[in-house]
Amino acid sequence: MATEAKHLTDLWMSAEMERLRSGPQERAQELAALQADIERQLLELPVEETRAPAPPLIPAEFRAHDPRRKQPAIVIVGAGVGGICMAVRLRQAGFTDITILEKAQGPGGTWHHNRYPGVACDVSSYYYCFSFHLNPAWSQMFAPGEEIRAYLQNVADAYGITPLIRFDSEVSSCTYEQDRWRIRLTGGRALDADILISAVGFLHVPSLPDMAGLGTFRGKAVHSTQWDPGLDPRGLKIGVVGTGSSAVQIVSALAGKAESVSVFQRTPQWVFPYPNEHYSEQRKQMLSRYPELTGRLFEFFAAWYNGEFGTAVVGNRDAQDIFRAACAANLEAIEDEELRRKLTPDYPIMCKRLVFSSTYYRDLQNPSVHLVAEAVGKVVPEGIVTADGTLHELDVLVFATGFQTHAFCQPLNISVAGGPSLENSWKDGAASFESVAVSGFPNLFVLGGPYSTVGNLSTMSCTELQTAYIMRLINALEDSGADTVVPRAEAQQRFIAEMQSHARDTIWLSGCKSWYLDANGTVTIWTRTPQEFRERMLGGPDLSDFAFLPSPKSRDRDPRTGDSPGAGRGLSVSTSRRG
Ligand code: NAP
Repeated sequence: MATEAKHLTDLWMSAEMERLRSGPQERAQELAALQADIERQLLELPVEETRAPAPPLIPAEFRAHDPRRKQPAIVIVGAGVGGICMAVRLRQAGFTDITILEKAQGPGGTWHHNRYPGVACDVSSYYYCFSFHLNPAWSQMFAPGEEIRAYLQNVADAYGITPLIRFDSEVSSCTYEQDRWRIRLTGGRALDADILISAVGFLHVPSLPDMAGLGTFRGKAVHSTQWDPGLDPRGLKIGVVGTGSSAVQIVSALAGKAESVSVFQRTPQWVFPYPNEHYSEQRKQMLSRYPELTGRLFEFFAAWYNGEFGTAVVGNRDAQDIFRAACAANLEAIEDEELRRKLTPDYPIMCKRLVFSSTYYRDLQNPSVHLVAEAVGKVVPEGIVTADGTLHELDVLVFATGFQTHAFCQPLNISVAGGPSLENSWKDGAASFESVAVSGFPNLFVLGGPYSTVGNLSTMSCTELQTAYIMRLINALEDSGADTVVPRAEAQQRFIAEMQSHARDTIWLSGCKSWYLDANGTVTIWTRTPQEFRERMLGGPDLSDFAFLPSPKSRDRDPRTGDSPGAGRGLSVSTSRRG
């Protein structure tokens, strides 16, 4: 980039950082005006001034497919964030035999399925994207769901992934038999794979409450993922059950539009007030002209989410104090003391997933919106009767009651012939090795499975790191001359012990009920800092934690574990990458 452009972009970026820190104050308005002026100047510079170096096609984290080796048949299940990212990386590395199975009729996963009013991301959009495909055109700080769906579709098209996706293809079972994965689809079709990658995520099996009388409701009852985008809320009395991220978005989108909105709250949430700024056309044009600047915004938000935010949940008390103060101040926006009392949580901030909204409290005070803090007693044909006997009349009932977040890899019914199913082996708690592979299940990789980073971090970023690790394992498999890789059982036990010992310091065990905990109250997400996750994913794998098995003809070991006499024979495994 030429000197003047560099000077102006530096100036713009400093103003952006200061503005984001100063909140909706007078100073922020001054900075915004300064930025608009810089944007105009940048757009007037000659086009040659904008050039940024092109990123390498294959990132440093992994290598290209060895053309002397046979192409493995790779099946990815799920064409959401995980499946698309994995396929891009495999294609960039020269793998060609890739099939993506997707139950829906379009790509995007969560962002394809969730069409409820107000659906949006609550991670800054400049960071909620792949590092290899930044988007200068985001319309808002928190992009609407449809924009993210379109972004993912655009990535799939731009990297040649769309033709690899078989839509309307729901997987019913995956069985490792005769040294390959046999993947069966509902309807009877089947295909085989050398490598199976589950990218189905964990936010897709709806959790529906078992409420008395539910079947008697005369109106329309839907889970948040089943909202009919054609439904006009005007004149309707809408009940929303839940107060998580989905519910809060739905309530704000319907407030003042529907005749009434009744919010059925079981537990109040801490709500972090982050304004959802709209971006000007001038800013979008300027960012698309100066891709380096979009990259710097990505880095800025990555540092914020992985820094203060990502460490607050794993023991950074100073960072927790900052978020607690902001949420407590936000509660002051509630004028009515009784309503404020009902909305005040009695558990530590971030114990449940923090809700981001700068509009929820305002909208709860809209005269047409009613917070119902009494427990739901039963559903009746006219609506909901709460435990105090009050009937809340409703035309539409929306269950924003979340997902079965521990139904990892469901409903894929993964098993090894003659061995346990994945579900069965996880009956006492879901497990993985370093979040991407599972002991006992050869050539199976998992994105968004047990011990992945989640919370309010960017799924895109987490997925990208996991795909880098998986790519290295695939590189190592090729190097080894073997055809199967599986984590050793003792390595997985050691990893789980590490995660559980760190779980004690996390906010998730501070005394609330949340979807981070499984039925036994065990935390099954990454329990160390995001930076440590990054280092583990980019520094790994340590190949001594894996068994690499030779081709079936010369195999003398159990493919589920790799543990038997002759371990190491016929292998050429490189040494540990982790220090
Ligand atoms: P959620 O966070 O699990 O919230 C579910 C809500 O339903 C909670 O308020 C829960 O109350 C309530 N609930 C569940 N069963 C109930 C019952 N039987 N009776 C009364 N209330 C009941 O679900 P979500 O809001 O769909 O969000 C799930 C996750 O999706 C989020 O945490 C996030 O990771 C993701 N998401 C992300 C975004 C985004 O912007 N990136 C947007 C939406 C969702 P309790 O608290 O008492 O259990």
